[in-house]
Amino acid sequence: MNDWLKTDCDHVWHPYSAMGSDLPVYAVESAQGVRIRLQDGRELIDGMASWWCVIHGYNHPVINRAIETQLQKMSHVMFGGLTHEPAVTLAEKLVAITPEFLQCVFFSDSGSVSVEVALKMAVQYWHAKGQASKQHFLTIRHGYHGDTFGAMSVCDPVTGMHGLFSGMLPKQFFVNAPRCKFGEACTESDLAEFKQTLHQHQNEIAAVILEPIVQGAGGMRFYSAEYLQRVRQLCDEFNVLLILDEIATGFGRSGKLFACEHANIAPDIMCVGKALTGGYMTLAATLTTRQIAQTISEGNPGVFMHGPTFMANPLACAAANASIDLLLQSDWQGKIQCIQQALINGLAPCKDLTHVNDVRILGAIGVVEMRHPVDMRTIQPAFVEAGVWVRPFGKLVYLMPPFVMHDDDLHKLTTAVCKVVANINTKK
Ligand SMILES: *Cc1c(COP(=O)(O)O)cnc(C)c1O
Repeated sequence: MNDWLKTDCDHVWHPYSAMGSDLPVYAVESAQGVRIRLQDGRELIDGMASWWCVIHGYNHPVINRAIETQLQKMSHVMFGGLTHEPAVTLAEKLVAITPEFLQCVFFSDSGSVSVEVALKMAVQYWHAKGQASKQHFLTIRHGYHGDTFGAMSVCDPVTGMHGLFSGMLPKQFFVNAPRCKFGEACTESDLAEFKQTLHQHQNEIAAVILEPIVQGAGGMRFYSAEYLQRVRQLCDEFNVLLILDEIATGFGRSGKLFACEHANIAPDIMCVGKALTGGYMTLAATLTTRQIAQTISEGNPGVFMHGPTFMANPLACAAANASIDLLLQSDWQGKIQCIQQALINGLAPCKDLTHVNDVRILGAIGVVEMRHPVDMRTIQPAFVEAGVWVRPFGKLVYLMPPFVMHDDDLHKLTTAVCKVVANINTKK
């Protein structure tokens, strides 16, 4: 082990990990295209896009250049009382590509914070309208919206891993996640509990918050577009706002630019993050309608109560502008379709394994759900030995490759997943 890896082990936390854990951490030397190069010279085909983010691959010359150009001007400047072209251009692009009525953009530095901002917008909106009792949220189980306190309060209470904090989290309303899967119809009975909760608590509920179509870190579930359509109707019927968290699904991942397009609906508030900068810099945004923004701004105290220090960081905005241009100029729909087909074909052998519960694919997302949680101690090194970077959690082995991955690498990736998953069986 080289010195700094030991220092890492002694002093550095990793996501959801124990200090000094004996689980392996791999040292990355560099990354290029769809490959992560380890310090020891091994190259791994990246199946994770660094958690949904790196849609154009690593070290992309166009995004590199955009950041370098911005760096020559300024890397950062405060956003209070000042503005700059990269932020304004990005706001304009986001307004253009998201649903029509989303016109006002609030930038923040991470997905979780953009969710906090969305929740605060909803509460301030109703406060401004004289309905201050509407301070709670309704959501479905198996959701994931981030790790800060407000976001945690709307994560799945069980899989959200936040049970420890339950005593200090605001109490929200939860209903069961839809059973109707993507591509299926949904019946009124699928929505009965949701409707009932809205009916009973509409005076306490500021907004419904959901991940549209794809529930990510809370279980990698794909649910019916019809369900989302009905949710939109019910929110209108019961005078409740709809917040869609597109942080994981945004920018093409599910096969549509934004997953809400599968249902042809628009939210009142939308969060984007993750792939916003092509995975280059940390940046997120919360979009809302003119009417909501105006109501908040005209209410008491006359301003929206949030303002991150690094709001609209110019380097991050420049990266995002370049990333969105790259995406829109590419045949991204064609690429996602190719990836979807490669995942369908490549992961099909997993279906025959008795310890695999389900294999599901949507857009550039492939999920192999096991019957039991995987053992990270053995499965992580097995993936690395097979030459791929795949990071399972719980029962879920899942892939969300960069959109630029070609068929031969997709084939290697899915073959490695099938092999490693099959071997779990023989070892136990
Ligand atoms: C990742 C994620 C978040 C949190 O974003 P961070 O940048 O990690 O704070 C919120 N919602 C969804 C749907 C996510 O996938």
